[in-house]
Amino acid sequence: MAVKEKACLNCKTIYFGDKCTNCGETPATETFKGRMHVFDAEKSEIAENLGINKNGEFAIKLK
Ligand SMILES: [Zn+2]
Repeated sequence: MAVKEKACLNCKTIYFGDKCTNCGETPATETFKGRMHVFDAEKSEIAENLGINKNGEFAIKLK
């Protein structure tokens, strides 16, 4: 059985499963565009622009 990736509507984290692995929220979308890996959130300007302050994999655009 294939598990679909979801992107958290709260923090944009891409995850599998029932709830966000980052913030624990459940509202999510399976429709998102682009993804980015943040390895050093404190130094990444892109992460800052997207409001991301943790390392991980994030969706760039949620629908
Ligand atoms: Zn989240």
